[in-house]
Formats: sequence, C-alpha cells, structure tokens
Amino acid sequence: MTTSTRSAPDVVIAGAGIIGCATAYFLAAEHGLRVVVIERDGIASGASGGAAGELGAVGRHRFSEAFTRFIMRGIELHTELAPALREESGVDYLLGDIPLLRPAFEESEAAELREQMRWQHGLGMDVEWLDAQAVRGLGTWLTPDALGAALTVERQLEAYPFALAVAQAAEHHGVEIRTGEVTGVLRSGGRAVGVRIGSEELAAGAVLVATGPWAVDAGAWMGATVPVSPLRGQIVHLAPPGGMPMPQHAIFHETGYLLPKAGGDLLAGTTQELAGFDRQPTSEAQDGIMEAVVRLAPAVIDAPIRDLTACLRPSTPDGLPIIGAVEGWQDLYISTGHAFKGVTLALVSGRSLAQLMTGEAPDVALDDYSPARFAGAA
Ligand SMILES: Cc1cc2nc3c(=O)[nH]c(=O)nc-3n(C[C@H](O)[C@H](O)[C@H](O)COP(=O)(O)OP(=O)(O)OC[C@H]3O[C@@H](n4cnc5c(N)ncnc54)[C@H](O)[C@@H]3O)c2cc1C
Repeated sequence: MTTSTRSAPDVVIAGAGIIGCATAYFLAAEHGLRVVVIERDGIASGASGGAAGELGAVGRHRFSEAFTRFIMRGIELHTELAPALREESGVDYLLGDIPLLRPAFEESEAAELREQMRWQHGLGMDVEWLDAQAVRGLGTWLTPDALGAALTVERQLEAYPFALAVAQAAEHHGVEIRTGEVTGVLRSGGRAVGVRIGSEELAAGAVLVATGPWAVDAGAWMGATVPVSPLRGQIVHLAPPGGMPMPQHAIFHETGYLLPKAGGDLLAGTTQELAGFDRQPTSEAQDGIMEAVVRLAPAVIDAPIRDLTACLRPSTPDGLPIIGAVEGWQDLYISTGHAFKGVTLALVSGRSLAQLMTGEAPDVALDDYSPARFAGAA
C-alpha cells in the first residue's frame, strides 16, 4: 500500500456496511492509518443492518473445511473483541449464546445430519444428537413430528447495533464516515489514487471497494467483471403469541428458521430470491415463510406479525467471498460476496484484509478468496 500525502487519507473505503466498517476499524485501530469511509445511504442500511445476526459455522449446505474454519475463527473473534467494541462505541449489541436445533423429519435427513455431526466433531465443534423423546423433553416449540435433532449452542447478536458499534468504534480510532456516492476510482500510473464522489475527487493512498452487492458497479470503475449479485432475503418479525414466553431454542431447517432474539423479536426466515436490486418485501414471501415456520413450530400460527423486512445478500458464483487486491492495479482492493455469513465473518475478514493491505501476513490466509480466481470471467 502506498503512503498518502499529508492531507489525503491513507485509505478510502466505498460502503459503510459491516464489511467496510470492520475493515476501517482494523486499519485504524491496529495499523494507525487515516481512513475515510464513503456511504451513499446510511451506515448498515443494506443487509448489514437487516441480517438475522446468527453467528454459525454451518449453512444449509456444508461449507468446505477451509471456509468453515474461516467462519469459526470469525466467531471466536466476535467473543474476543466484544469487550473492546462495546467499550469504544458505548453500544451493547447483545452478543450471547443461543441453543439451536436442526431437526430431521425423514430418516434420510437424520442420517445426513448425523454424518454432518461427525464432520463437525472432527473440526472440534460441540454438537449432540437428540432423539424424538429427548427433543420433546426440552419443551421447545419444535413440532412433535420431528424424528430427532442436532443440538448446538451458537452465538448471536443484534445486527444493526453491531454494525453501529463497529462504525462508532472505528470513529473512536479516528475513522471518518462521510455521506456520498462513489462513482469511480482515480487511477495514475497503474495505481488507485483516490475516488470520485460525483463531481468531487478524493485523493487517498489506497482504495477499498466494500459496496456489498453493488460492487458489481465497481466493475466499470476497475475495467473488470465483479461477479457478485444480489440475492434477496426476507425476514418476518414476530412477537410470541399472547402470554407465551419467548422460546429458548432456535430452530433451523432447510425449509425455514425461527430465531428468538435477545432484543425481543422472534425472527422467521427466510427467502433466497433473484429479484435484482429490488428491496421491497412481498406478501408472497411472508406467506411462504410463515407456512414453513408453522410446520416447524405450530405455536407460531398465533404469533402477531410486527414487521417484514427484505435485504440483499452479496452473492458470488462459488459461494465464497471476494477479498483482496484487484488485478492490474496497485493499491486497489475489494471485499464483497460474504453472502449468508457477512456478519459472522466481518471481524475476521476485516482484520485479515487490513493485514494484507498493510503488508502483514493475514491471520487467516485469503488466497481462496482472491479476486484473481475470477480473472478473465466474462
Ligand atoms: C435476510 C438476511 C439475513 C441474514 N442473516 C445473516 C446472519 O444471521 N448471519 C450472518 O453472518 N450474515 C447474515 N446475512 C448476510 C449479511 O447480512 C451480509 O453478508 C453482509 O451484511 C454483507 O455486508 P456488506 O458490507 O458486504 O454489504 P452491505 O450491507 O450491502 O453494505 C454495502 C454498503 O455499501 C453502500 N454502497 C453501495 N454502493 C455505494 C456507492 N457507490 N458509494 C457509497 N456507498 C455505496 C450501500 O448503501 C451499503 O450500505 C443475512 C443476509 C440477509 C439478506
């Protein structure tokens, strides 16, 4: 990374989602750099503020071992850094444990979950199989139709307050977050030397594009394809039905999930929709989510609906994020494509990229996530 002139920041970051804010935090807090973040809407106004806030290393489908370890390190960092983030920001984002059940309704599903558990044990994860009777004994909202379930204790937080905490902790270390729309990258002698913000030009020692699914637009700025696309997800926010306490267990299944939040909402999710950049929630999605979740937890049928939200995951063709230096440039970086796991990965991704940008060996090698793997893609 090239050192900036005295008046220009060392790094300018496009996008104040959780990825832009977390990377800014580490660049400033751990490397002493002067960082400006440019956000065209509000801090965490995209998926970063609307996410469910579950921090888990298991997806609907099994991730590769390397990616799972990346996520596991991300979860550890959440625990390690929470006291500092709370202290520096003054924001409590309710990081805590949540027991989580993954039920099976068919023998084949139970076998698949057990096989996944063996693999999880191999990675050091604590996961236990409960048969139907043991699950019922927990007194959860899970339908008695379940043949059994895998039980883990995972971590969760409130996504919007978390992003705000990271942004404010970054500001505590001197990061400046400004309103504006980045419309281009300034290039000189093969180097990125700043960004265009409408008619303004902001010089900087290096540029990071962290604009979530909108990073696709940055392809035109870079003269390269950025293979990221928006994958819409919707969440129904519920209250427990009259008189019922919040459930103590989350339920996650291929068809849907129910996630009790410490902040008081009961989240029912979700969808995976190709709807371009349309962020409007839809009644069809609400009906589909409710139908699936009522099958998992029949008590939900009487749960009052408080809200319906929609936001866009930055998704990539191979399901892995794109983090690193942009080919054909010096001092230009990108971090996007964190898809289903951006909140979980924010701290490990941000810290590792900050290390890479400052010439240190990253805590976690980022080679698998290099933008170069898509070089030449149409
Ligand atoms: C329904 C749903 C539930 C989710 N639940 C979880 C979960 O439980 N756990 C988990 O780990 N992950 C979850 N995710 C995924 C997570 O939310 C995302 O991976 C993460 O928020 C992506 O962060 P980001 O900073 O890359 O993108 P974004 O949050 O989209 O931020 C990008 C920012 O860039 C700004 N921007 C765009 N273009 C420009 C420009 N030209 N100039 C300036 N600013 C610009 C945007 O306004 C936006 O604020 C969920 C996602 C969805 C949709």
